[in-house]
Amino acid sequence: MSIFIQTKNLVAKEKYYTIKILENLKLIEKDKLYADLKYPSLYKYIIKELGYTDAEATIRVNAVRLMLKSKVAEKKITTGEISLSNACTANKAMHGLKDKAIIKDIIKHATNTSTRKFKDYIQTHIKKERKEIIVLDEHTLNQFDKVKEKYGRDLTSFEIIKLMLEKELRAPEAMQRVRKIKNPSSRVIPRSVKTKVYTGECAHCKVKHNLEYDHKTKRSHGGTNHSSNIQILCRSCNQRKEIRARQLGIFI
Ligand SMILES: [Zn+2]
Repeated sequence: MSIFIQTKNLVAKEKYYTIKILENLKLIEKDKLYADLKYPSLYKYIIKELGYTDAEATIRVNAVRLMLKSKVAEKKITTGEISLSNACTANKAMHGLKDKAIIKDIIKHATNTSTRKFKDYIQTHIKKERKEIIVLDEHTLNQFDKVKEKYGRDLTSFEIIKLMLEKELRAPEAMQRVRKIKNPSSRVIPRSVKTKVYTGECAHCKVKHNLEYDHKTKRSHGGTNHSSNIQILCRSCNQRKEIRARQLGIFI
């Protein structure tokens, strides 16, 4: 076999495996299966368990999220009409977008086009950005690193700044609302119990952000608000717990 035919065959296999891996990652993300291995996110699982680099993980996580958002995009990713890097750009651009027509347009423009052309399209039509260069001194940099540690190292500097700004600009009533939506039962846990059980980390995967109070046994299944029934879980582990219980048909 000539080296050219051999290379062509290898590439065909590579493409096949890339798609198969993405399909598995989609299932792992959908049911939060990574929490079973004590990872707080798909991103962490991909890096630590599969050995991909940061950049490779970012692309895969975004591609998987796009697949979960849109059946059309999923099909196009599996046929190769949308490249992995375009899928990543598309998913990032869709963040916070509700307008279905715009989302459809993004997917259309991501199809059969180069990475650069698609990025240009996003920058001129979807995400209007302003470039701002900030010089930080050593002290501020150290503080920034501490905040970064608090939110989780898998977030980019941009995402950290966004979180800080959202926190700063959120009205007190809005914060209350968010808390209630995130964990409706938390409002009935007495403050004294909350203080007692608070550890600052997820009881399962030890991550230190997106923490929620969880009833080990649900309130609707006889669980009490006693400190022995309350634990701290991160959002992913909490969701995974719910999904597992639903799938097994049991209630924990
Ligand atoms: Zn966790």
